[in-house]
Amino acid sequence: MKVVVAPGDGIGPEVIAPAVDVLKIFHPEWEYSQVYLGYECWKRTGDPLSQTTRSALKEADLILFGAITTPPDPAYKSVILTIRKELDLYANLRPVFGSGFDILIVRENTEGLYSGIEWEEKDRACTIRLVTEEGSRRIARFASSCARRRRRHLTIGNKANILKSDVFFVRICQEEAEKIDVSVDKKYIDALVLDVLQHPERYDVIVTTNIFGDILSDAAAYLEGGLGMLPSANIGKDHALFEPVHGSAPDIAGKGIANPIAAIRCISLLLKYAQERENAKIVEAAIQKVLADGIKTPDLGGKAGTKEVGEAVIKEIIRMR
Ligand code: ATP
Ligand code: MG
Repeated sequence: MKVVVAPGDGIGPEVIAPAVDVLKIFHPEWEYSQVYLGYECWKRTGDPLSQTTRSALKEADLILFGAITTPPDPAYKSVILTIRKELDLYANLRPVFGSGFDILIVRENTEGLYSGIEWEEKDRACTIRLVTEEGSRRIARFASSCARRRRRHLTIGNKANILKSDVFFVRICQEEAEKIDVSVDKKYIDALVLDVLQHPERYDVIVTTNIFGDILSDAAAYLEGGLGMLPSANIGKDHALFEPVHGSAPDIAGKGIANPIAAIRCISLLLKYAQERENAKIVEAAIQKVLADGIKTPDLGGKAGTKEVGEAVIKEIIRMR
């Protein structure tokens, strides 16, 4: 397997280092390389995503991404959006779990309101919410097959009472779920956001369109105690990219106190993706043990640094294997 690591900006390199160490415990034999991209790279070279980096990402089987700063400079184009499009990473997965609940949010990652089809006129601006049959079917299939391996329930987050494009999206999701015998319910996205926060135990897999999934998953982060804890995966037909939900956190960069758990959980997702469920479980169990021992970074109320938490997780993994 070819693993390409993109540490990125801010706390990215700090949290990615222990994550890579964790992966190397399980797979020292895989081929690892690093690429430079993002804001720091742009300041240094004038290009946030060079052609060489693009080719390296295209050749990777697995990509591990730290975090990148996206400055408000209009001349700067978001690197992660470009990568998602180029590698056609159509499914954005965000698992959220805790005591008594275990939800997988599956967000369509390439179209909807982020279609990029938009323009400005003199007195108005327009963005097209594009929902295609192909785009909907592949995300519906993906989400349904996740549900089949879990508790066989799929919730379709939508606004079909208002949006024709969501009548279409819901119909296709239902068709795909029925094909593989997954039960379905439909919920309007506004009510769904509230219900997920109040009754997270009611949900298994939730599938939804691009921007609804973005908002829903950020809101759901509330259930798990903050940004430093949540991993995500971007999956396509030929590529997979894993990244923490948090950004580059410039306010704490270089201080050695960033929480590395979101990044280490990315390894658990990566191992699951590589069909190594037992190894994925070991990573999560090690994290749970370290948290239970009170080895936590300041965002969780602890006194430990990034290194200390990373080393504690690694020690547990070695003990548990
Ligand atoms: P960006 O523009 O890259 O998204 P940001 O300033 O929005 O940067 P985020 O990384 O999105 O910062 O996070 C918001 C805040 O949450 C940070 O300022 C930081 O204090 C906190 N935070 C985020 N990630 C972590 C982490 N891994 N460990 C500790 N605190 C974190
Ligand atoms: Mg941010």
